[in-house]
Amino acid sequence: MALEIYQFPCLSDNFGVLVHDPERGVTASIDAPNAESVRGALKHKGWKLSYIFTTHHHADHTDGNLALKSETGCVIIGPKAEAAKVPGIDTAVSEGDAFRLGSHQVRVLETPGHTAGHITFHMPTANVAFVGDTLFALGCGRVIEGTMEMMWNSLAKLAALPGNTSIYCGHEYTLANAKFALTIEPENEALVARAREVEALRQAGKATLPTRIDLELTTNPFLRVKSEAIRKRLGLESAADWQVFAEVRNRKNKA
Ligand code: ZN
Ligand code: FE
Repeated sequence: MALEIYQFPCLSDNFGVLVHDPERGVTASIDAPNAESVRGALKHKGWKLSYIFTTHHHADHTDGNLALKSETGCVIIGPKAEAAKVPGIDTAVSEGDAFRLGSHQVRVLETPGHTAGHITFHMPTANVAFVGDTLFALGCGRVIEGTMEMMWNSLAKLAALPGNTSIYCGHEYTLANAKFALTIEPENEALVARAREVEALRQAGKATLPTRIDLELTTNPFLRVKSEAIRKRLGLESAADWQVFAEVRNRKNKA
């Protein structure tokens, strides 16, 4: 039976996500930006919390951990490399670890850069990945604790997932990302069309997420560093991929 995924906005621009396996009656919250919002979403769906999957230690992803754990007895699974900073963590996982959510497999990918130990939860049989603050629709997370090269390698790992993989991200940043992306690749028709769609969705108060890997590959400038047009625009024709990425990221930081 298919997984049910429920995404809801919380805090100022975060997303909460619940993943439910109806067959086994188990539910995971992807991060816990705030206990009240996750509690409300669980109540709305009539689901009982079994797990929290923590992508990284930032407060806007872990603030709800302790309250939700004490109310529900849920198990918190999070990144080994920053386990000491994840409130209430029970199981610390790293690259290649695999476990189950009900009848579906969950694989752990290490995607450091935004934080030093950031992980992604990939569910291959359900064609979905929960990428936290690593990849965003038309953007990527700020490189706070890692290096540019590290972040590029993490994005390249996500870019190599099957094209039809649904991507759930930590934030609704797509409109600002679209405006910036157009400064990097204004001649990309797929990007121009998507920017229009994103604007229409936001005007209607709708979420622009989840996205898909294939859509990001054709429109997200942070994944398109091999593009001749982008390299030429940046004057980096013969630079390494990570250096082109770093230039795009630095420009976004100043945008
Ligand atoms: Zn973060
Ligand atoms: Fe965040």
